[in-house]
Amino acid sequence: MIDFRLGEEYEALRKTVQDFAQSEVAPVIGGFYEREEFPYEIVRGMARMGLFGLPFPEEYGGMGGDYFALCLALEELARVDSSVAITLEAGVSLGAMPLFRFGSAEQKEKWLPSLCSGEALGAFGLTEPGGGSDAGATRTTAKLDGDEWVINGSKSFITNSGTDITRLVTVTAVTGEKPGGGKEISAIIVPSGTPGFTVAPKYSKVGWNASDTHELSFADCRVPAENLLGERGRGYAQFLSILDEGRVAIAALSVGLAQGCVDECLRYAGEREAFGHRIGEYQAIQFKIADMEVRAHTARLAYYAAASKMLRGEPFKKEASIAKLVASNAAMDNARDATQIFGGYGFMNEFPVGRFYRDAKILEVGEGTSEVQRMLIARELGLR
Ligand SMILES: Cc1cc2nc3c(=O)[nH]c(=O)nc-3n(C[C@H](O)[C@H](O)[C@H](O)COP(=O)(O)OP(=O)(O)OC[C@H]3O[C@@H](n4cnc5c(N)ncnc54)[C@H](O)[C@@H]3O)c2cc1C
Repeated sequence: MIDFRLGEEYEALRKTVQDFAQSEVAPVIGGFYEREEFPYEIVRGMARMGLFGLPFPEEYGGMGGDYFALCLALEELARVDSSVAITLEAGVSLGAMPLFRFGSAEQKEKWLPSLCSGEALGAFGLTEPGGGSDAGATRTTAKLDGDEWVINGSKSFITNSGTDITRLVTVTAVTGEKPGGGKEISAIIVPSGTPGFTVAPKYSKVGWNASDTHELSFADCRVPAENLLGERGRGYAQFLSILDEGRVAIAALSVGLAQGCVDECLRYAGEREAFGHRIGEYQAIQFKIADMEVRAHTARLAYYAAASKMLRGEPFKKEASIAKLVASNAAMDNARDATQIFGGYGFMNEFPVGRFYRDAKILEVGEGTSEVQRMLIARELGLR
């Protein structure tokens, strides 16, 4: 059966988030972006709507929805602003989801309610200064000393890791050697404020300027042994599965940015005049906008296809990578065309398209670069 229509609940959520993005985010986000300030009030607004608990069961204070609902919310937010969207994406898919999927009953009870309500944020620390694509090359170590892990090392580019409401970061660390040789990598929860855990000042970034990103360092940082997340030695595999889902979410976010470019260009091309005509009357501009719509539309189909396999419980690794690759390309291409259609105003902070342009690039890098997506697709096709 093929039916691409959204069910009533999905459609209602999409509309609610769209209204919120238009009324609460669009009027103010440019200022936060230029000041490089984290928009706490907007995050509280998203929390009040239950967005941080969307795919989690009600017993943890979640909304009892699913991962596709999160994707729809991300698309509508990113249509207006990507900093806000990535704050939600990282909070849910990277911060809370590892605890939900792999946490013990006690860990879930302890952390999930505040993460689902959006009162608190969690972060996900995989990338290190020495490399992100080769995630197995982790250098951070955690040694068991009595009933405590002692963590040493650093993590780079970690989203949501230094806000006033950040409560934890889950990090991958080498906890020993595998029986057959090679690194044993495990995931460990480190609460914010633990002695020996330092959050560096925020990065100065090209885009996502109203989102929170820091380098983290760990110097003899001690956490209780029970902060191990899931099975010892399974940290790498756990994080890879979290990234498969995350790629569908980033694809949705990319589609939002690509569609936001179409929205802005339709408006502008209908108003701006050159040579005695509205620029939208020129075929060169019409074709550009038509191509932008085609990219957004096809990328949306790609993430819907990946999400539908994910929700059916079928393998979706290849589809997730295809969606992420297609959608991040669409975002990048649409952002470039949109700024061109805006002419000089495309280069001004006064209009959102300049922000879209700066925000698009990271979509080809974060949660697996485009090269990594191609490697994964090739591998899924049996190429070794
Ligand atoms: C704003 C921002 C937020 C982020 N948030 C998080 C977060 O919350 N948590 C987290 O863990 N990480 C986060 N990241 C890190 C992100 O996931 C990594 O930057 C990304 O995975 C790439 O890793 P790298 O930067 O180390 O690049 P590298 O791995 O050093 O890659 C450099 C280049 O080499 C290419 N390359 C690498 N290996 C190969 C190969 N085998 N074949 C061909 N090409 C190859 C890459 O595609 C890339 O073009 C964030 C990054 C940014 C910028």
